Amino acid sequence: IAAYEMIKFSVNLHRGCFGGCAFCTISAHQGKFIASRSKGSILREVEQITRMPGFKGYISDLGGPSANMYKMQGRDLSVCAKCKRPSCIFPAVCPNLNADHTPLLDIYRSVDSMPGIRKSFVGSGVRYDMLLHRGKEQKANRAAEEYTRELILNHVSGRLKVAPEHTSDRTLNVMRKPSFNLFQQFKKIFDAENRKHNLNQQLIPYFISSHPGCTEEDMAELAAITKELNFKLEQVQDFTPSPMTLATEIYYTGYHPYTLEKVYTATTPAQKTAQRQFFFWYDKSNRAKLIAALKRLRRTDLIKKLHLDVK
Ligand code: SF4
Repeated sequence: IAAYEMIKFSVNLHRGCFGGCAFCTISAHQGKFIASRSKGSILREVEQITRMPGFKGYISDLGGPSANMYKMQGRDLSVCAKCKRPSCIFPAVCPNLNADHTPLLDIYRSVDSMPGIRKSFVGSGVRYDMLLHRGKEQKANRAAEEYTRELILNHVSGRLKVAPEHTSDRTLNVMRKPSFNLFQQFKKIFDAENRKHNLNQQLIPYFISSHPGCTEEDMAELAAITKELNFKLEQVQDFTPSPMTLATEIYYTGYHPYTLEKVYTATTPAQKTAQRQFFFWYDKSNRAKLIAALKRLRRTDLIKKLHLDVK
């Protein structure tokens, strides 16, 4: 089983996700409340992995649906029991959420000190908005800073996956994702730590085209913004409606069910291809189509920015 090869040396630390992204089903099928394994249970599994044939000392993932939600929950659970928010971190981190990264740091360090372990990586997606969040508790703020450093210096296997999903804040709002500014802030920290410690690690951002709310022009801007940041995107997908999600409801009805506002969604194959092709501005076979699209969108300024005029 090909997928088994990928996960056989990885350890799942928790279930559930309180991110509540509009296109994702995890909170529908695993729940919004995090169920975390005990430290003992995790370390026992790691110890078993060290005895597996072919194991060379590298844990490929200490993760979960979102890598950094281990042991996080509301401070006052009676408030959570009545809560109707679909996300604990969007549009802002809930003041009742205890987003302390200390227990997760303890897991990383405990795993790394075990006999037979050379390195443990984080292959699951990291919520960088929680790393940048600063609340009232100084201990949690310090832990977020320390976790960020520990993650970048000791747990990246060459490439760190993060999911800004878009550059347009209007589309991100429909996605229930944080502003693209936060990604840029995180990238600065990531690049600075890499420079400081002479590391040559890459940040791999994930993006989605054709999500409800996203227009062709948003995609053209996404191409220009990510090019400016020196990314040649690989980890991309065109939106596929999946059951039980807010995004799918908007996709089918054309309306946002919370506000009853109309929301544009690319639904035809031609509209979806037109959006998707902007990911691949560097592919010469797309050049003529992109130039034609940018003229139609009256965004000829982006032709230069994307170097589409350079033969
Ligand atoms: S009260 Fe806050 S922490 Fe608790 S479930 Fe609601 S949003 Fe999440």
